Amino acid sequence: MKLSVVFSASVAAGFAAMISACSTQSVSQEVSIAPISEIETSPESYKANAEQELINSSEIFQTLELLDGPKTAESVLVPLNELELILSKSASKASLFYNVHPSQEIRDIAENQQKEITKLYNEISLSRPLYETCKAVDASKADTLTQRYLEHTLRDFRRSGVDQSDDVLARIKELNNELTELSQGFSMNVRQDVRSITLTSTNELAGLPEDYIAAHMPDENGEIKITTDYPDYIPFSRYAENDAARLALYKEFKNRAYPVNEKVLKDILIKRNELAQLIGYKNYAEFVTETKMVKDVSTVHKFIDEAAEGALPRAEKEHAILLARLQQIDPAATEVGDWQKTYLEQLIRKERFKVDAKKIRSYFQFGHVRDGIFELTSALYGVEFRKWDTPVWDPAVKAYELVDDGNVIGRFYLDLHPRDNKYKHAAHFDLQGGMTDRQLPVSALVCNFPGKDSEDELMEHAQVETFLHEFGHLLHHLFSGNQEWIRFSGIATELDFVEAPSQMLEEWVWNADTLKMLAMNKDGETIPPDMVKSMVAAKEFGTGLFVTHQMFYAATSIGIYDCDPANLNLSTTMNGLQDQYSMFKHVPDTHMYANFGHLVGYSAMYCTYMWSQVIAKDLYTRFDQEGMMNPKTANDYRTYILGAGGSKDAADLVADFLGRPYSFEPFADWLNDTAAE
Ligand SMILES: [Zn+2]
Repeated sequence: MKLSVVFSASVAAGFAAMISACSTQSVSQEVSIAPISEIETSPESYKANAEQELINSSEIFQTLELLDGPKTAESVLVPLNELELILSKSASKASLFYNVHPSQEIRDIAENQQKEITKLYNEISLSRPLYETCKAVDASKADTLTQRYLEHTLRDFRRSGVDQSDDVLARIKELNNELTELSQGFSMNVRQDVRSITLTSTNELAGLPEDYIAAHMPDENGEIKITTDYPDYIPFSRYAENDAARLALYKEFKNRAYPVNEKVLKDILIKRNELAQLIGYKNYAEFVTETKMVKDVSTVHKFIDEAAEGALPRAEKEHAILLARLQQIDPAATEVGDWQKTYLEQLIRKERFKVDAKKIRSYFQFGHVRDGIFELTSALYGVEFRKWDTPVWDPAVKAYELVDDGNVIGRFYLDLHPRDNKYKHAAHFDLQGGMTDRQLPVSALVCNFPGKDSEDELMEHAQVETFLHEFGHLLHHLFSGNQEWIRFSGIATELDFVEAPSQMLEEWVWNADTLKMLAMNKDGETIPPDMVKSMVAAKEFGTGLFVTHQMFYAATSIGIYDCDPANLNLSTTMNGLQDQYSMFKHVPDTHMYANFGHLVGYSAMYCTYMWSQVIAKDLYTRFDQEGMMNPKTANDYRTYILGAGGSKDAADLVADFLGRPYSFEPFADWLNDTAAE
């Protein structure tokens, strides 16, 4: 599954959470307190600036802790906002530099800065004097956004446990430390337990690509080792014809870190449960869902059941197609095993939809794709992009300004090609949030696309999709940069909503009319609509099976946190849920919970990914009805969804745009309309 990363320092610091009224008016006046002009300066100056930011933050923090006299929005919330502004900006820059800067010295300073900020943030969030100061603020006559700011600030304090007795608070700190160690231990156990199967002949590699076979020649003993590491495991499960070997590797893969992590996960569940109860919640699931778009545990359970039910008819059809294909190989087969699905799906995509990846690639020249993304989003939102003359951290980085009605409303960097010591995936990094009359929003896109040596280099369609997806996060950040409180700027929405706008934008690379803005081959021909049609059909095959299997994961994730963990049997629970939700039954002697890191990382909220897909499909309904390039629809979308940042709850933003509450129906309709026959 694809879950791309959004680095939002304000969210990462836990300081963010609010929202302000939507606004698309342009910021005509910019008073940036520290423009990002020090990007090419020396390590010495970066270090000095970073230290100064810590000093400034600590001073504001101490002043607030000791504040005497009336506690008002002006005397408390304004300086608190200033503190968040400095810290989030400092954390953002440190996160970007740590991940991309070519200078080792600067990366080291950035790493240290991240640690210092985390330490300071922990002190702030557990400061009882600061909490008391905030609690004393009377915001009853203040505007809605100020009230929301105060309300979310107090909520975050309460969720840290700061209002508990000294004994309880001491225990909370102890639990937090233990949980950090346990979580790290869980991941380390998975990383370190690389398992393998041994084959004795290259014949057993039949079906795999030539370069894979060449990289797996028999050793001096005539043995071929295939490990559970992704570069070995993924192609093997997709292409290996040898069913017994695929099953053997699958079992090893699903048993990584078993049995050691059974106890680690159990300890994590027990300690998180204790933590949640100390802070005043029934269990950890209730604690985690409170600040999400789903809001509560029962909504998650209902969502999982509706999604699974909605996807079932399609999943059954797709399962029948897989089974029929399996029976051509093994006439006695009566069901499709979990270790067989990836292999069979790949066969069906190749045989039924005849997608020629090489031909598709010829339409995606890097330079044309980038310019096409600018053109597409300019046309949608009526904005312009122009070069920004500013220092950058590497010569390959390009800088741009986003211009609306003649005014610069945001700035960004594109760091799009691989180089040594650079972050290896694709992500949007915010560099600073936007605040009205104070500072403009700044973003950076960090990706690893072709095009470094020549803009004519070709991209995969999946990379084009990723580019537009990440660009969607960037636009969200830049369009939301006109906020009264810094914590509402940027992508400061609930974590289960944050992916929805970018997931919706992906539709534009699966539609022949809009895709042709980005897709042109060297002879100047745009991509043929028939080719796009078969690409869509191939992509959509297997969706029903995917959704039902995802709901098995989601049900496990909420299930093990929404119970008393002392009596929980992980095997029985997870195996039972697999048989209940997925079309692929549990394979005996496998223990996936020991290596499924999302049960620790997402805890009870694994449903996040599918939840935001559902919201994305719902948001898309207006574009579907009114036209994908309809400027009025796009302008409403920009106003009500993107521009609003975190100034309202995500459910309210969606309702403002759609004119009704969010709904599951468009997703269910899409599942049924596009099912393969
Ligand atoms: Zn994303």
